[in-house]
Amino acid sequence: MKRRNSINIPARDFGVHEECGIIGIHSKSKQALARDVYFGLFALQHRGQESAGIAVSVPNNKVAYYKNMGLVSEVFGEDELMLLPNTNIAIGHVRYSTSGSSNVVNAQPIVFYGRYGRMAIAHNGNIINAPEIKSKMIENGHIFQSSTDSEVIAALINNLSTESVEQGLFEACKKFVGAFALVILSGNKLFAVRDSFGLRPLVMGEKDGQIVFASESCALDAIDATLIRDVVPGEIITVEEDGSITSSFYNGSDRKPCIFEYVYLARSDSTMDGVSVYDSRYECGEMLARLFDIKADIVAGVPDSALVSARGYSAVSGIPYVDALSKNRYIGRTFIQPVQSQRESSVKIKLNAFRSNIKGKRLILIDDSIVRGTTSKKIIALLRQSGATEVHMLVASPEVKWPCFFGVDMDTKEQLIAGNRSSDEICKIIGADSLHYIPLELLVKSCGGGNFCTGCFDSNYSVGKGVMVSNKLNME
Ligand code: SF4
Repeated sequence: MKRRNSINIPARDFGVHEECGIIGIHSKSKQALARDVYFGLFALQHRGQESAGIAVSVPNNKVAYYKNMGLVSEVFGEDELMLLPNTNIAIGHVRYSTSGSSNVVNAQPIVFYGRYGRMAIAHNGNIINAPEIKSKMIENGHIFQSSTDSEVIAALINNLSTESVEQGLFEACKKFVGAFALVILSGNKLFAVRDSFGLRPLVMGEKDGQIVFASESCALDAIDATLIRDVVPGEIITVEEDGSITSSFYNGSDRKPCIFEYVYLARSDSTMDGVSVYDSRYECGEMLARLFDIKADIVAGVPDSALVSARGYSAVSGIPYVDALSKNRYIGRTFIQPVQSQRESSVKIKLNAFRSNIKGKRLILIDDSIVRGTTSKKIIALLRQSGATEVHMLVASPEVKWPCFFGVDMDTKEQLIAGNRSSDEICKIIGADSLHYIPLELLVKSCGGGNFCTGCFDSNYSVGKGVMVSNKLNME
């Protein structure tokens, strides 16, 4: 039997982490909604692998919930799902910690006793003025259990709910600066909220009269729900006990969603704000082929997000698409783990090269982004050791030069390889024969055009720089 040498390297240890995935379902009659939430969370697992949780409403304004550290499949078995009775409302959450440490206290949904009984909140995003809000509330005698900004959201909503939960939610949303997509269970009502820029995605779907909200449409597909529309930036949707829906806006709408969702964060089979993530990635590959005519024998992508772009490049250039890298699919996306020591130890079994596909070939390698550059360097070394005679790196996004403050755990500017380096310098560091990036305006075009947060590429964040500075975020 032919034996392949094994040179193992990190798959995606490039310093970008996803944030969280959320889902909420409302049914007019009591159903086993926890099971649908469970399957929806499976579809959202790529957005967070540290912890998972489900909360369901039970009679008398109470909430039953279960959450723990680990993948959805590790946290929930039959026994855990049996703890969650049939219900009218269920919400769920998978987490990567961008705010607060990685432990079960910070796992979501957050469940608490409020002015109107028990509530449960699942949050995706990052509230950049949460420390300031928290300090003021502590001064006023409030106690916090966790280190998450999500608990600050819960506390402020309750604090401001002097007339009703709806009123507290409206007032609280006006005070938050940053990214938040929320699903909230309170009594017989389900709320879904998206911040006024729509930084984090949130879609609404329907299944047999049930209303479903989820971070991505792939979660709707997973439970056979039909996509109705995206929650509009700035919108608060309330689903009442009888299933009726009201929509309102807490502070206007200024759509500037995170463009990195299309580049990397979202699943390729999701549709966000009416644009197919697959189509945008494929188009980026096509654009790269039109921009950069490189003499090569084969084109390949770094699994998983860049495979689509590599196919687009191949279609336009006529250069055959091949699989160059094999990904072990039985372990999580290693970079989701929050500390460097965990990343280093767990990534070594993640990727391997298809030697027979690349030996003696001039290779174009497409990746969705380069953040710290450590993975690119190791992948290129692997491909050369496995027989590639040339490795040309094409990137389906511009240089990542700035950190993210909105729930995507990118490194500081100093740790970003493009933070203070030219493309030529980066090319030398990662060991490529050439290196090219797609221009930002073409990336925006591939995502359907319009306004986006592009802060990590050009420091043009959705929230103005003045706000960032006033919240003591380092912009230099
Ligand atoms: S800075 Fe980048 S990753 Fe962060 S929200 Fe903006 S586009 Fe997304």
